[in-house]
Amino acid sequence: MRLRSLMVGTVTAALALSLTACGKSSDSGSGNPSVDAKASFEAGTTMAALNQAGKIRIGTKFDQPLFGLKGLDGKPTGFDVEVAKLLAAKLGLSADKIEWVETPSKVREEVIEQGKVDLVVATYTINDKRKERISFAGPYYEAGQDLMVKKDNDKITDQNSLKDAGAKVCSVTGSTPAETIKKYIDEKNLVLFDVYSKCADALKNNQVDAVTTDNVILLGLVDKSEGAYKLVGKPFTKEPYGIGIKKGDTKFCQFINDTLKAAAADGSYEKAWKDTAGKVAPNTPKLPETATCS
Ligand code: GLU
Repeated sequence: MRLRSLMVGTVTAALALSLTACGKSSDSGSGNPSVDAKASFEAGTTMAALNQAGKIRIGTKFDQPLFGLKGLDGKPTGFDVEVAKLLAAKLGLSADKIEWVETPSKVREEVIEQGKVDLVVATYTINDKRKERISFAGPYYEAGQDLMVKKDNDKITDQNSLKDAGAKVCSVTGSTPAETIKKYIDEKNLVLFDVYSKCADALKNNQVDAVTTDNVILLGLVDKSEGAYKLVGKPFTKEPYGIGIKKGDTKFCQFINDTLKAAAADGSYEKAWKDTAGKVAPNTPKLPETATCS
């Protein structure tokens, strides 16, 4: 399974590279935002500590095209990655000072609590349960839960059709869609993996009938499927994406929110989108109203 998923990853990455070489759509990064070389911060803050350390560890996904997909060079690309680079640049850190850490859905709170990463940008929905363990800056994007099926499947038309179709549905442990979908199917029909690329493989092999998670994640998988899969296209939840940080680090949260607002004002937020997810997703989002840091 591990070898298989590595091989699939390599093929996907090679495909992304060859598309770039042809000058066609690619979700590779936008290049690097300009680094704030004069950045200076109040002593004792997380910002000052990271600036002085000259490096930052950032948790993201490695198998989600459009948001966080690891390339052959070992570096991830995608909208989450570009948002993270904007934050690092404001801390005075160039992209090569970022250590990228793969953070599958289930481990996100844990790696923040244990201090294994400084922040997590990983299609991470803000919710109260997670806020008991960590804090969120943002939101910086709002997705919605949707379904992905094989292109010739006309039985699954929305979440309410899953039960009648007796559909087996794949999602990821520790994700919000895995919880939500339990309202619509028998639990014995829910198949869980640690990452979504394994769900895409299971769909290919007819081990499941549908994959469920956020629409933009599924869009990336559809895009890479060469016409094999389609998005059902009826989002049925709201998934506001936040940046996970240590619980109660209000100053760091405020810094991130200010940086997001500045990026929306100077066009770098929009550029980050257009250079990544925007190559496939039709609408450029506006930065949502950021929440109060607490
Ligand atoms: N946004 C959802 C979540 O945070 C699903 C995507 C994911 O698993 O990363 O659980």
